Order: sequence, then C-alpha cells, then structure tokens
Amino acid sequence: MDWAKPTRILLRSMIKESFPELSVKRIVLWSFGLGPFWGTSWWLLPWVRIIIVTHKSRDISHMALMGLLAHELSHQVVYRRYFWIRYVFRTPWIYIFRKDLIKGEEAQVDKVVMERGFGRHLCVLTKIIDQDPDHERVKKYYFTPTEIEAYCQENKFKF
Ligand SMILES: [Zn+2]
Repeated sequence: MDWAKPTRILLRSMIKESFPELSVKRIVLWSFGLGPFWGTSWWLLPWVRIIIVTHKSRDISHMALMGLLAHELSHQVVYRRYFWIRYVFRTPWIYIFRKDLIKGEEAQVDKVVMERGFGRHLCVLTKIIDQDPDHERVKKYYFTPTEIEAYCQENKFKF
C-alpha cells in the first residue's frame, strides 16, 4: 500500500486552496516508518522540493496533520524568498551549526502558517508536541499555543 497517498492528496488540496504559489512547483512527498511523528521540508535541487513526514504523523489528529503539512509548506514559501544557491549554503547549516538561529527561522515559517489561516491547526499540533517526550528538545524553537492565538488575533487571522 502506498502509505503516503492520502497525505499526498491532502497536501495537494492544501496547496490548491491555501498555497497557490506552490502549485507550479514540483513538490514530492515522502514518508517513512521510523521514529516519532515529524516532518521536514527541503529544497533539494532548483526544480525539486521535498517534504518528508513519518508514518506516525497519521496517528495524530487530522487537524494536527494539517498543521504539520501547513508548516512544511510554509517552509517552502519562505525558501522562495531566496535563490536556491543561497538556500543551500544557508538553511541546512543553520539547523546543524547555528541552533541559535533556528527559533527565528521557525518563527518566520509559522507566521506564514497563521497568515494562510492554519493558526488553529498549528495550535493543536503545538499542544501535542508539548505533551510529547520525543519533542522535548525541539519544542523551544516554536511558538507556544498562547503566542499562536495572540498573533492570530493581533493580525486578525482566522483562528
Ligand atoms: Zn519547521
């Protein structure tokens, strides 16, 4: 069975409705079975973007999965602000060597998530992450549920 198929269909519909600028881009969705739920978003080659989610992402609620996909798609929206070569020599290195810059990167991404109307989805996802020991080390990089709600209200984004 193609595990990723339902997720791929969901991703396509989210692109169509909320991330139209990505509809002309080649975005490949992969999934693998190891580890807790998480996702990651890469700009592999100038013409190939890849989003990876683990099988466990299916175990979180549909709302949280949408929050996760909206987050990974928003990474791609942020990448579009750069040339590919700048992305390659910048972004992966931040996540490896400049952990002090990760929070700023993720904040830029989650602002896009909220602007596109996925504030509530992001909030649901964040609440799961907060409870999950597997995410203990990374949760400091993300907005808290209270910050998400406040940012949506301030900017009059759907919540
Ligand atoms: Zn991220």
